[in-house]
Amino acid sequence: MISDDLPLSRASVDRTAVARADEELIRRARADGRTRVLLVRDGSVVMRTPSGDADPLVGEGWGRRAGGTVRVAFLDPGTAEAVARAADAAPRDAEPADAAPPGTAPADPEPADAEPGDGGWLFLGRDDDGDVLARRVRPEHSAPRSGAPSDVLVHRPRRDSGAAADAAIAASSGLTNGTSSSPSTSSGSTSSTVSSSAAHTAPTSPSDVDAEPVPEPLPGLRWVALRAIGAELSDADAGLATTAVALDAWHARHPRCPRCGAPTTSTAAGWTRRCTVDGSEHYPRTDPAVIMAVVDDSDRLLLGHAAAWAPHRFSTLAGFVEAGESIEHAVRREVAEETTVLVGDVAYVGSQPWPFPASLMLGFRARALSTDVVVDGVELTEARWFSRDELAAAVATGDLVLPSPASIAHALIEDWYGGPVPTSD
Ligand SMILES: [Zn+2]
Repeated sequence: MISDDLPLSRASVDRTAVARADEELIRRARADGRTRVLLVRDGSVVMRTPSGDADPLVGEGWGRRAGGTVRVAFLDPGTAEAVARAADAAPRDAEPADAAPPGTAPADPEPADAEPGDGGWLFLGRDDDGDVLARRVRPEHSAPRSGAPSDVLVHRPRRDSGAAADAAIAASSGLTNGTSSSPSTSSGSTSSTVSSSAAHTAPTSPSDVDAEPVPEPLPGLRWVALRAIGAELSDADAGLATTAVALDAWHARHPRCPRCGAPTTSTAAGWTRRCTVDGSEHYPRTDPAVIMAVVDDSDRLLLGHAAAWAPHRFSTLAGFVEAGESIEHAVRREVAEETTVLVGDVAYVGSQPWPFPASLMLGFRARALSTDVVVDGVELTEARWFSRDELAAAVATGDLVLPSPASIAHALIEDWYGGPVPTSD
């Protein structure tokens, strides 16, 4: 069982959901000197860098070098607001004026930042030290980015027109310490803007930390991608950052009512959006995805290589649960669609939120009933069975690059392997 301590599944601060109904909650918390505020922007949060390292976030492998010393930076409400306002005022990537056809929604995905009330503020929870809020900061880019290529394979429905390219899916990885382990996964994007930005992202190492300077006045702090650093954080920081990133991604992608298309506004301290025309209320979305360690009668593990990935990178199969489908069925369907391998018994082993932008990864061990593998050659270009010895040998020679130790995929592989898997990078 790999549950419970997956990096982005950890949390220790009480969400105090009952407090969200208080319409004065955000206002009062902002006026309370004890309130701590986390800044969130497009999958990243502002973190305090290890002392003594001049510019620790530049270059690959930073997370490992940080050695667990990275911490979420909590600011006072006034400073957080100042940073958010500075970002609002800063020039950003401009969409071509004619980008949006007449009659469609504006290209700017985030009218929420400009709205009154709770706009831009999120209530994350409360502990003995007071309330914890998040302040959303407008991204430098017009469209939210989905991040680096995934560590896992997420099968896109073939009916998804034109999606071969955007295919690729999305999310990915993280760094760090092997024992506590793992997030990773998927995320297919729910919008074409996200997909297209993913498409131009070259396959990169999972250690490609997304680090950018924070606008003044915050010297020494940096934006750090949660997916890259999640496993380095404390339980409290991981839980708060994951929730903030998930809510921020939802607000950014749902500025309008799904029923009538009118703008919606953030209410319930950031946990609800209400339509300004018909009053309907909408709640944060989570898209379930399955990820599975498929094992045959010889105890070999099935791993696949996606076309979008760097050479030699293999991971466990994964995909989104479809409408009207059980998760067990999704496991069997995805494996059959991606490899033609038939799956019998399916056992749940753990879950992890992967809010890039909205996935919940559900991990399984699955028993194969057949071993012949046929891939589609487009999305998935190779899939192979590995014995433990074959896996270790392939990793040693560099012929196999496994998902990052922070991923749930890695945890699944380790669970099958029976111990720490040789690291490939
Ligand atoms: Zn509406």
